Amino acid sequence: MKTITVKDKQFAVSITEADIKNEIRRVATEIERDFQGKEPLFLPVLNGSFVFAADLLREISLPCEVSFIKLASYMGTQTTGQIREVIGLATDITDRHVIIVEDIIDSGLTMAHMIETLEKHNPASISVCTLLLKPDSLRVQVPIDYCCMKIPNDFIVGYGLDYDGFGRNTRDIYTLI
Ligand code: 5GP
Ligand code: MG
Repeated sequence: MKTITVKDKQFAVSITEADIKNEIRRVATEIERDFQGKEPLFLPVLNGSFVFAADLLREISLPCEVSFIKLASYMGTQTTGQIREVIGLATDITDRHVIIVEDIIDSGLTMAHMIETLEKHNPASISVCTLLLKPDSLRVQVPIDYCCMKIPNDFIVGYGLDYDGFGRNTRDIYTLI
């Protein structure tokens, strides 16, 4: 089995690049179908979703805009439960069809807070697109419109996701062993 070491921890490959690409193509098709005739504004959430956003956006041929936002609530391998502010909302989202692009939804607290904050800016609609979802870990209800893959409640790295800042630069996704 393919393993990597990130700082002091060992991870084994759990989702391959090919599988990720297939699921992204599937979700991109759904988004194109649902947003025909609209010009959505994608809001990828930094830092984790930068790789996913780059791959997703290149599978979408709709006229669209992209603007990165940031809201961190995670330290090491455990959710802190601490919610920080949304920063970097550079584009006016009033009357826009907004699609939030996330790397992973774990407890759902980050996304719930994000939606609550964005709603105050009166967008035409808010949709959520996540690369990964841990269904068993959800603590609040969040509307998830597009999900590439559901995973067990394990800690993962790679393909944009980090462990203490490291491990983002891999093509596959790895699970802590
Ligand atoms: P939530 O608020 O849903 O509990 O956490 C969401 C955020 O926690 C994600 O955007 C991501 O940054 C981080 N996160 C949750 N699970 C994992 C994981 O397994 N690995 C990594 N690297 N980050 C995670
Ligand atoms: Mg994230």
